[in-house]
Amino acid sequence: MNFWSFISNPDRWIRGHIRRGVKQALLGDVIAEYKGERGEHKASKAADKALAGHNAISMCDVYLPWPDGRTAQIDQIIIADSGIYVLEVKNYKGWIFGNERNQYWTQVLTTGIRGESIKNRLYNPIKQNETHISCIRRNIRDYTVPIHSVIVFSNESEFKDVTYYSPDVYVVYQSRLKSTLRDIDNQYKGILSDEDIERISAKLTMAASSTDKSNHVQKVHASQDIRREREARGVCPRCGADLVVRTAKSGPNAGSKFLGCSRYPECRYTRNIE
Ligand SMILES: [Zn+2]
Repeated sequence: MNFWSFISNPDRWIRGHIRRGVKQALLGDVIAEYKGERGEHKASKAADKALAGHNAISMCDVYLPWPDGRTAQIDQIIIADSGIYVLEVKNYKGWIFGNERNQYWTQVLTTGIRGESIKNRLYNPIKQNETHISCIRRNIRDYTVPIHSVIVFSNESEFKDVTYYSPDVYVVYQSRLKSTLRDIDNQYKGILSDEDIERISAKLTMAASSTDKSNHVQKVHASQDIRREREARGVCPRCGADLVVRTAKSGPNAGSKFLGCSRYPECRYTRNIE
């Protein structure tokens, strides 16, 4: 089982993605290859190398259906012999405060202006990933496999007070992702056979193909209820993705901070910071 060689360099991919600030680009090369197998996208050379000869299967930016028609957007799923890894990537800078039991976590950013800081509320990513995991379990029904919840924060963030209790939940910096995955892999090795991995991946692929990604992203006119619920959760009211703090690069407000959708440029929602 070559899970480890497959995953040996996630840091680099994720760092590249963080630099561009585009959440969907996470392990973009790998998913391009994955989709390429189904003839949907051109396979990239980088991905050929990453996946060649390995049995772990990685799916990025996966949209899975709930029975009620909603869709869960999952940054990355890796199916390996040590179980299913569900990654939620948080592209945040600044200080992070959060407790597993709280509904919201807090990001504190210094503005560089007279030591002032901005507080931003984010929906508890552990709860968010729990929902993703329930959705995965629902879609692979007859398999009871360990599912590892891995929340990855940017190296530019700093955990000030981040507390969690559940087994099989990990909140890590990108720079620790590799060693964290390696530890989990050592602990759970050999739980799934190659056949299991294939079957689970087939189920998830089939489920994902039943959702319409573009429809999900472009549903700009979400119902008022959905918008309100998203506003309350502190995520993008248009598409439900995370909001991130950005700095205006040009125009009359150059240099000022605002909240923008992490799916930019796919979603162009922005809002002033109060
Ligand atoms: Zn959005």
